[in-house]
Amino acid sequence: MSQDAFSNRSRAVQAMGRIEPETGGVTPPIHVSTTYIRDPDNGYASGFVYGRPDNATTREAEEILAMLEEAPAGALLFSSGMAAATTVFRALDPGDHIVAPKVMYWALRNWLATEAARWGIVVDFVDATDLAALRGAMRPGATKLVWIETPANPLWDVADIRAAAKIAHEAGARLAVDSTCASPVLTRPIALGADIVMHSATKVLNGHSDVIAGALAGARDDDFWRRIVAIRKSEGAIIGPFEAYLLTRGLRTLHLRVERQCASAMTLTRLFSEHPLVSGVLYPGLPDHPGHAIAAGQMEGGFGYMLSIRAAGGAQAAIGAAARVRLWKRATSLGGVESLIEHRASIEGPGTPCPDDLLRLSVGIEDARDLYDDLDAALRTTRD
Ligand SMILES: *Cc1c(COP(=O)(O)O)cnc(C)c1O
Repeated sequence: MSQDAFSNRSRAVQAMGRIEPETGGVTPPIHVSTTYIRDPDNGYASGFVYGRPDNATTREAEEILAMLEEAPAGALLFSSGMAAATTVFRALDPGDHIVAPKVMYWALRNWLATEAARWGIVVDFVDATDLAALRGAMRPGATKLVWIETPANPLWDVADIRAAAKIAHEAGARLAVDSTCASPVLTRPIALGADIVMHSATKVLNGHSDVIAGALAGARDDDFWRRIVAIRKSEGAIIGPFEAYLLTRGLRTLHLRVERQCASAMTLTRLFSEHPLVSGVLYPGLPDHPGHAIAAGQMEGGFGYMLSIRAAGGAQAAIGAAARVRLWKRATSLGGVESLIEHRASIEGPGTPCPDDLLRLSVGIEDARDLYDDLDAALRTTRD
C-alpha cells in the first residue's frame, strides 16, 4: 500500500515510512559526506555532487515538511529561521517594495528596517490585522511581497491569511507567512492562498531546544522559488546533516507535542484569565481576543502553544514573577518540550510594541497544573 494513503500525522511519525536499504533500519543514517563519487561516464546518477547545495539527510526532513505543509514546490531547510526568512527578501530586486507587519518577530523586523533597506528594499510596516491598512499599503506594480506572521510575537495578533493572499495577489505581489507559532499541525498557509511559508524550525518543529534551523515551503516551483533555491545553494545557508537528522527526529512527535501544548495553553489561559494579579491574557483561543474568529477559521485543532500574560502590578511585578518561577525556565525562544517564560520588553528594547508588564509564555508538555501552580506562586510572592 502506498504511504500516500495514510494521514500526514501517520507519515510524519514514521518519517515517511522509509526503511534504510542496506540494513533494514527503521531510522535513517546521517549522511555526512561533503562530496560524492562521479560516475565513469562523467555524470552524477545519484543526484548528489557536493554538500553545500544538497544532502540526503536534509532531503528526508524536507520531504516530511513539504508533506505537512502541503507544499507543491517542496520545502528547503536552512541554517536558521533568519537565514530562511532573509533568503526570501534576498530573492527580491533593489527598488522592490514590501509590506510587513508592525507586530512580528523582532529580529526580523530589525533586519528589514536596517539591512534590507540598505540594499534598496522599500519596507512599509502596517497593522496586519487591519485589512484596510494592508490594502492601503499596496503599491500595485512595485509591491512584490507581503509578509505576515500569525499568530504574531509577542501579542499573538492574528492575520487573516486568506484575505492577505487576496490583497497581495490583486496587487501583483506574493504572500509569505511566518507560521512558526502555528506549525503545520494547526495551519497550512499554502492551502489558504499563501505563496511561501517560513518557519523557525528551531522552535516547535524540532521541539527539543537543541537545533537552530529554518525552513521555507513553496506553493509553486516558479522563477521566484528557483531563485530562493539558487541563493541557498550559492550562499551555503543549508542546515547541517546532524541538525537535519535531529529535526526529522523531532518531527516524528510534532502532532503529539503540539496537541498537548495547545491544550495546556488553553488551560493556562482560562486559569490566568481569572487570576487577581493578571490584568490580561493574550491568546487567540480566548473568545474575546480580537483575532479569535479569524483564528478559528484558519487554525485547526488548537490556537497555538504561545500566550502572554500581563502582570497587574506592572513591569517590576512581571520581572519579579519571572525571577521566582521554579518549573518554568526563564529563557528566550519557544516551542520546546520545556516551558519558557520571558519578560519580552527587556529583550526587544526601545521601540517595541510589547507592553513592559508582559510575560511571554511558551507552553511545553509538563503537567499544566504544575505550570499554573508555579507561576501562580511566583506572581503572588511579588506582592509581599
Ligand atoms: C525564532 C523565530 C524566528 C527566527 O528563527 P531563528 O531560528 O532563531 O533564526 C523567526 N520568526 C519567529 C516567529 C520566531 O519565533
